[in-house]
Amino acid sequence: MLLEGNRIRDQIKAECLPRVTKFVDIHGRPPGLAVVLVGQNPASEVYVRNKTKTAGELGIYNETITPPATSTTDELLALVHELNAREDIDGILIQLPLPGHVDSQRILLAVDPAKDVDGFHPYNAGLLATGREGLKPCTPAGIIEMLRRYMIPMSGANAVVIGRSDIVGKPMALLLLSENATVTITHSRTKDLPGICRTADILVAAIGRPAMVTADYIKPGAVVIDVGINRVDGKLVGDVHAGDVAKLASAWSPVPGGVGPLTIAMLMQNTIQAAEAAAAARAASSC
Ligand code: NAD
Repeated sequence: MLLEGNRIRDQIKAECLPRVTKFVDIHGRPPGLAVVLVGQNPASEVYVRNKTKTAGELGIYNETITPPATSTTDELLALVHELNAREDIDGILIQLPLPGHVDSQRILLAVDPAKDVDGFHPYNAGLLATGREGLKPCTPAGIIEMLRRYMIPMSGANAVVIGRSDIVGKPMALLLLSENATVTITHSRTKDLPGICRTADILVAAIGRPAMVTADYIKPGAVVIDVGINRVDGKLVGDVHAGDVAKLASAWSPVPGGVGPLTIAMLMQNTIQAAEAAAAARAASSC
């Protein structure tokens, strides 16, 4: 079975619409998202355009701020503080990568955790690690939505995640754990990677190496999620070998059209969640 990201994306977007309408009815303004895009990077520009287009479709107020590539860390910190203080902005997204001379960690740490719609701030990572509610990284959260909506059983399943990045691998493993899967995290130093992967009922590949996951990594009947986005000869290719996975897996997400579309949908959901939470906190503090 093909796990179609576009279908799940459309469901999530459809669920966002009434939440935006309700928010506008109650608060007289839509949830607001600020995207900070520093300098000119054609790939980042495409990503940002897609994000703001989706926000626009859902009626989420969005603003793209484009400081020049020469901006200093201090100038960007000042911008983040300004956005943190704005009541009409509920979510702040710093489009990565930032120019090399900028201290990216300081910028990301400066974002108010309540507005951290990417879920990258250590505060939100800590909430996730301790099983508390918070803003979750969009790509792994989207994968959980996909598995749930395709009714893939996670409780008690053996899940293997390839990759340990803060953005995908680690939060993916924590989210699967919170769904009661038995989780193994693997990475570039793992011994007998194919052998470990063959124990997986659910295998998530978040590596960034085209078609690395071949038949000897896949247990027949496994569910395989391909997070990889690699460009090979101008074509998008995942981390999983497309022919092998189709022969062996019971369900798998293709590239393109699998995990990719979910990330932006989850960003919208996070923006609405942040707006609702901030409004609730303001209401509680004014009581
Ligand atoms: P990353 O480079 O930060 O991390 C890659 C991970 O893969 C590392 O933890 C590393 O240990 C592991 N790895 C590298 N080579 C390996 C090997 N030979 N064997 C086992 N493990 C190995 O990358 P990332 O940000 O986690 O992204 C991973 C992939 O997912 C990339 O292709 C990226 O473009 C894609 N991605 C897609 C989306 C989406 O929306 N679909 C979002 C984020 C990332």
